[in-house]
This record gives sequence, structure tokens and C-alpha cells, in this order.
Amino acid sequence: MAKRDYYEVLGVDKNATPEELKKAYRKLALQYHPDRNPGDKEAEEKFKEAAEAYDVLSNPDKKARYDQFGPAAFDGSAGGGMNMNDIFSQFGDIFSDFFGGGGFGGGFSGFGGFGGQQGRRRATPRGTNLRIKVKLTLEEIEKGCEKKIKVAKYVPCKTCGGSGARNNNYDTCPHCHGTGVVTEVRRTILGQMQTQSVCPHCGGEGRIIKDKCHDCNGEGIVRSEEVITINIPAGVYDGMQLSMSGKGNAAPHGGVPGDLIILIEEIPHELFERQESNLYYNAFITFAQAALGATVEIPTLSGRVKVKIEPGTPSGKVLRLKGKGLPSVNSYGRGDLLVSVNVWIPKNLSREEKETLTRLDKSPNFQPAPSKSERGFFDKMKDLFN
Ligand SMILES: [Zn+2]
Ligand SMILES: [Zn+2]
Repeated sequence: MAKRDYYEVLGVDKNATPEELKKAYRKLALQYHPDRNPGDKEAEEKFKEAAEAYDVLSNPDKKARYDQFGPAAFDGSAGGGMNMNDIFSQFGDIFSDFFGGGGFGGGFSGFGGFGGQQGRRRATPRGTNLRIKVKLTLEEIEKGCEKKIKVAKYVPCKTCGGSGARNNNYDTCPHCHGTGVVTEVRRTILGQMQTQSVCPHCGGEGRIIKDKCHDCNGEGIVRSEEVITINIPAGVYDGMQLSMSGKGNAAPHGGVPGDLIILIEEIPHELFERQESNLYYNAFITFAQAALGATVEIPTLSGRVKVKIEPGTPSGKVLRLKGKGLPSVNSYGRGDLLVSVNVWIPKNLSREEKETLTRLDKSPNFQPAPSKSERGFFDKMKDLFN
């Protein structure tokens, strides 16, 4: 059969605007829509023809080629081989505008009759996701850890192997005759419309249980407890979610189990504050250590380390202990431990101590004289903490 001119098919002239093309196509698509013409081969051909014409003319490149070379430009390609699924996936929006969304569009694979055999389309039941919280210390987060957690969940029924059917006895669903979908004819302003939906009788499975398993009442799942081993990677953070595929609730009737979603909760540490992969620690040294210099012990997540305090270290100086923070969960990097060094000011002094201090305080060396470098340090500290 010779191809008709695409402009003729859509009933528009060569100067039609995109809007006019769309309108013309929409009108034809509705008129010849397979839902409104069930089993009508001629309507189906016209429906396809209109889609081909619109496919070419609505695309500026294709339209230019068509205008130059005519239908020969698309022999055996482009418009030539459109099947129904192409049409609906490509122009679905045109229909959904009309049918109030959802009615067609994505659900189109459900139209068994199109472009091929009437496939048996069974809905696979899916188990629900299970959510749990796991509380972790910074020490656990630093190394990564394995947690064994007992969760209450649905598991497949052992008696029936999860099918819900006693002795594996099924009948074909009499409502949908095994297809899993039911067709409903409705009257709308556009005339009679067919819609298909999941068969409510069998839940889309196409079959019904002849004899229900007594232990699970035909559901195929029972409440139980399971100990799940969770491998927590190093460097996770508060509020992060990990997911273990298939470890959630079992699905009814032997379907696909849901996922286990693990919400990470970080237990605040008594010594360290965390900011991403860096840790912060407030260290206190004596006035003499600050003035004379010293070696002090600083705690880290993996034990204490010795840190040298230079003579004349000002209170508030920040020392960076490289790599003593947390590993990053997404990379090989590792954070630092930032130690803020504070000079401890004693409160309760003996009379002798007070006299000694008062004497020392008269020394010119004890008079405050902030240097330029110490002011610069203030900016550096702000950078470190922002
Ligand atoms: Zn059972
Ligand atoms: Zn059914």
C-alpha cells in the first residue's frame, strides 16, 4: 500500500504551526484510539499512520527531510516501523492530557492486545521495606563495624514455602481468566472507553489459591524475628541511610522481599565533636606548660598520642593532628583531629601561691603584648572552625 502524504494524513497544510499539528494529530489519535475501536484493524492502521505522520512533521529535522525528499526519505526507517508501544511511549503526553493522566501513558504495557500476543501479565507482589535505627559510637564509626540486630519482620511461611497454597493447589482466577487484569467499559464524553486495571480478585496474580495454608492463612508470610548481620562501613554519619536489598519484609505469595533501610544514629562522644570527617578536642595545659613548653598526652579515637607544646604557646592555639580524624565514607581520605590548646586558670590558690604570682606578675615579661602574628592566628583559627 502506497503511503499517503503526511500532510494529507493529518489534514493540515505545509505551513501548519506545531500547535496545529498537535491538535490535528490529537483529534485523529482519539478517533482511531484502539480503546475506542477494539479489534478494528483499519482503525489501528489509521492510528499508526497518524502517529507516523506526526512523528515526522513534529520534528523539524525530519520535517525538512520530508519536505525535500517526500516519503522516500523515510523508507524502511523512522515513521515506517512504529509499533503501538513506540506510539504510546513517545506521544503519551498527548493522551494523558485528554484522559486525565495516569489512565494511559505509563500503564500501556498493560494493553495485552497491542502489537503482539496477549501476554499473561502477573503482578509480582513486593514485600514492604523495613526501617531500623542503628546507634554507633565514634569508635565504631572510625573502624567500621559489624552489627547483629534482631528485627521483627515478615518471613516466608515454612509450611507452604511462601506460596500460601496448601499442597500447591491453585485455580485460574475466574474473574480475569488468568490474565491478572480486568477490563471495564465506561461511558465518557468521548464515548465508550475501556480501562484495564489489576484484577482485584486475585491481586493481579491470575490465579487463586484452591486450599489455603493454615499456618499463614493463605498469605505465604508469617510474623517472626530474624537476626540480621549488618556491615557498617567506616566513616558513616548521623542521619545517613544504608540499604540492604531483599532484607526487608518477605512478600506475600512468594514475591520479591522488600529492603532493609538502616538509619545511622551517632552517639555523641564525651571528648570529641565531629564535623564531617574532622574531630575537635579541647585540651587544657597549665600556665607553666604553656610558658615553658612541654610534651602532653592527647586522646584520639585509637588511643593517646604525645604532642609537643612549644614554649610560649598562646591559649587557644589550634594544633592539627593529621589523619587522626575519621575516614571518609565516600573516599580514601581521612580527617584530622584539631586540638584547641587552652591554658588552665586555677581558681583556689593558697596564700603562698598568690604571693608568688603577684611577684611574678610585676615582671615586664608577664605584661600582655599581643604580637602581629598572634592577631593573624585569630583569623587562621576562624578559618579552621568555619
Ligand atoms: Zn503458609
Ligand atoms: Zn484475577
